[in-house]
Amino acid sequence: MKTVVKSKISALLDEIAKEFNLLVPTAGDGASKFAPYTSGGQVSLDGRTLLPPKDVFFPQTEKMYKFSTDGMAGSLETLLEAPKHQMLFGVRPCDVKSIHELDHVFLTKGFVDEFYQSKRDRTFLVSIGCNGPAEPTCFCQSMGVNPQESDAVDVHLFDLGSEYGAVAKSENGEAFLQKYASFFNEAEVQLPAISEFALKPDVEGITEKLQQMFDHPLWEEVSRKCLGCGACTYLCPTCHCFDISGRVAGNQGFKFRCWDSCMFSEYTRMAGGHNPRPSKKERVRNRFLHKLQYFPERYGDLLCTGCGRCLSKCPVNMDITNIIKQIREVELA
Ligand code: SF4
Ligand code: SF4
Repeated sequence: MKTVVKSKISALLDEIAKEFNLLVPTAGDGASKFAPYTSGGQVSLDGRTLLPPKDVFFPQTEKMYKFSTDGMAGSLETLLEAPKHQMLFGVRPCDVKSIHELDHVFLTKGFVDEFYQSKRDRTFLVSIGCNGPAEPTCFCQSMGVNPQESDAVDVHLFDLGSEYGAVAKSENGEAFLQKYASFFNEAEVQLPAISEFALKPDVEGITEKLQQMFDHPLWEEVSRKCLGCGACTYLCPTCHCFDISGRVAGNQGFKFRCWDSCMFSEYTRMAGGHNPRPSKKERVRNRFLHKLQYFPERYGDLLCTGCGRCLSKCPVNMDITNIIKQIREVELA
C-alpha cells in the first residue's frame, strides 16, 4: 500500500491547493467544519467535524434564479456557478455515507437538482478512516458504515498511526496518487484493530416494525421534552429540508433557497393555515420515521449515518439510539 507520513501532509496540501479549491476540516470558532485551506492554517484531521460537509453541495442559503420584467417581456436566468474543481479532504466514513444519501435525494428517481449536481460533479473526495469511535456518541458501525474504510470516494486514507495508507477508489484517484507520488512510499501495512463502540443500536427489522407504529403512544412520550429548536436537523449530515423564497425590488428580483427544518411548526403550515403536523408529536415522529422508515422504503438505506452529532448537541438529550431501543421494546398486538 502507498503510505505518507503525517508530517508531510501540510506540504501535500500546499501542492494540492495549487490545483484544487481545497476544503479541509478546521477547528473554526468553537465549531469545527470544512473550510478553505490556507497554507500554515489550522487543519484538524483528528475525528469528525461538528458541522457536516453537506453545505459544500447544498449551501445553507443559495441564490437560484434571477428575473426581471420589462413591460410584457420578462427574463429568467439560472444562477449556476461553475466552481473550480474542488477537493473535500479528510471526510470521515459516516459523512461519506451522508453524501451518498444526499445523492439519492438530489440526483435520482428522475429528479436532478442542477445546483447540487454542479458542485457534486466537480468535487474530488478524499476520506480518512477511523479506528474506532471518534466521539463517545458515534455509532456508525450499527448503521452499516465501516469506520475504517470508505469506497464511494476518489482516495481513501487509512489511519496507521504516524502515517496514512492511501488507496485509490476511482480512476481520478489513481491519477491523483501518480501525480503526487513523490509524497508516498510503498510499504506492507497491517491495519489496526477497530476499537469497540459503546453505542450499538440494533436496527434489524426496524423499518418493518415502524410501519405498524404510526399511531403508537411512544411518539407522544418521546416528543414531550423536545424544544423544537432544530439543532438536530441543522447538524445532521443527511437532513435536507429547504424552503424557496424570493426577493423583488422594482422590476427585478431573485429566488433563493435556504435550509429549513421539519422540527419547526411553520415548516408544514400551509397558506390557508392548516398544519398537518400541528404538534411536537407529529414533528418528532416525522423526523424518526423519515430516517428509519420512509427513506429506507424509498431508497433502500437508513437516513442516519451514526455520526452522533444530534446526540451530542441536543439541549435536552434526545438520543436516536435510545429511541431505536424504545421502538424495539414496543410489543405490538
Ligand atoms: S435538537 Fe433536541 S430539542 Fe432541538 S429540535 Fe432536535 S430533538 Fe428537539
Ligand atoms: S440522525 Fe443524528 S446520528 Fe444520525 S446522521 Fe443525523 S445527526 Fe448523525
